[in-house]
Amino acid sequence: MHELALCQDIVRTALDAVEVRSSAVVSIALEVGALSSVNMEALEFCMRIVLDQEGLPHTRVEMTPVPARARCGCGAEYEPEDVFGPCPECEGFDREFIGGTDLTIRHVEVADEQS
Ligand SMILES: [Zn+2]
Repeated sequence: MHELALCQDIVRTALDAVEVRSSAVVSIALEVGALSSVNMEALEFCMRIVLDQEGLPHTRVEMTPVPARARCGCGAEYEPEDVFGPCPECEGFDREFIGGTDLTIRHVEVADEQS
């Protein structure tokens, strides 16, 4: 299950980014590309495991799906249903994927020390 290693990277990156007590991390928001080959349910499951291991059982995980985008050599931009489909305009395969291929951290929310 490659999601587990992925989640360890995500949580480590998030904790490095905030530079405060790690227990102050309220939520981690992720964008999950439709073509990122990440299973959302597996991702959520693994995030919970890793956050528990890191002593952050109360940190929320928000996941936003990002639709795939492809640009064809003919100039058309479209939302491919999967990586194998042809261009809907010209039926060609001369395309590059320009969105929805990555898993990214959108933001890390940190608690106010006073509250
Ligand atoms: Zn085309």
